Amino acid sequence: MRISRRDFSRLGAMGLAARALPSSSFAEAPGDGKVGYCVIGLGVIADHFMRAVQQSSNSKITGLVSGHRDKAERIAAQYGVPKSSIYSYEDMDKMRENKTIDAVYVALPNSMHAEYTIRSAKAGKHVLCEKPMSTTVSEAEAMIAACKLMQVKLMIGYRLHYDPLNLKAIKLIRDGAIGTVETINGAFGFNAKPNQWRLNKALAGGGSLFDVGIYVLNASRYLTGEEPVKFTGVVSTIDHDGRFDTMEENVSWTLKFPSGVLATGSSTYGAQMSGYFKVFGSKGNLEMGPVYDYSGVRLRANYEGNSPDAPRVVIDETSQDQDPAQFTREAEHFSECVLKNQTPTSPGEEGLRDMQYIQAIYRAAGVNM
Ligand code: NAD
Repeated sequence: MRISRRDFSRLGAMGLAARALPSSSFAEAPGDGKVGYCVIGLGVIADHFMRAVQQSSNSKITGLVSGHRDKAERIAAQYGVPKSSIYSYEDMDKMRENKTIDAVYVALPNSMHAEYTIRSAKAGKHVLCEKPMSTTVSEAEAMIAACKLMQVKLMIGYRLHYDPLNLKAIKLIRDGAIGTVETINGAFGFNAKPNQWRLNKALAGGGSLFDVGIYVLNASRYLTGEEPVKFTGVVSTIDHDGRFDTMEENVSWTLKFPSGVLATGSSTYGAQMSGYFKVFGSKGNLEMGPVYDYSGVRLRANYEGNSPDAPRVVIDETSQDQDPAQFTREAEHFSECVLKNQTPTSPGEEGLRDMQYIQAIYRAAGVNM
């Protein structure tokens, strides 16, 4: 969905209309202390999320949006969602009247994130939207503007921001354990099966960088705590078997951060590649791999001790979290933000930055987004 100037002015008018409406139409603190989520799109990731919410302390599933009524009714029965809280893509705007729905979880193909986030905001619902936030920078900006205007929260589903081992890696680096960080490298990819929306640029926005490379890009930002200022990018396609008619198969990039850290990354839709990052510092190194899996993420580090005689410190830790624990942490964080009126750790602005950097990498590679 492309957001035009006219859409922005419509949003403006809608904002004024919203303020004229009784406040009870809009998201309020729920009575039972649990935030009610309406899940939009009932595919693979939605299943992880719904199971995760079921295990959470402060969230519940209270609505569904689907193009397949039978499937939605089956899932509704599983999660105790009344049939009256099942919507189609066409009539989902009616959820504005549904007080059991406080927030939505947007689990649709990438190009649909902007439209459904904006429609949900218009319905007065807080939005947890899957990554990548959108397929263009202007869509991401429009999503942030709509949520601000409607005074609802917007969070992007960067589940690793809530993963204890990723957080431990960040803390070790911030505490100077491996000294001055010089370079980072990482990669993530898989061998994509044909005939899926991920291989259709109109729905995906682009190739593997949007889908899996974004984890590597985002990790280099949270590991350094900096925003990149220079970009290189190069793309290639090796398998001319019809899968990559609308997008590239492989992408590699380098980000230069203000401190001088260089982070190189790659992603592919042509090979199975367990996600990893490696951080090299003046006193040692730290790596995670697998790092983007739903369970079993592993952190290893090896760095100088505190004094010349101290032995080197060696860390090798594997997460005991079982899927869908990462999604439970993510949902609980967003629900807490809704309940306590706080800003999420990964708000819309975080997703927007990744969209800007993806655009910069594509520009450097000579690819139109
Ligand atoms: P999926 O194909 O399994 O599910 C997509 C859902 O959208 C399906 O229910 C499908 O019916 C619906 N849909 C509606 N209109 C559609 C259309 N025109 N074409 C195709 N499907 C349509 O996809 P998924 O793997 O669940 O991915 C959904 C989103 O979640 C994507 O943005 C993806 O990047 C993100 N995702 C995030 C993670 C994570 O770990 N955070 C993992 C996988 C996917």
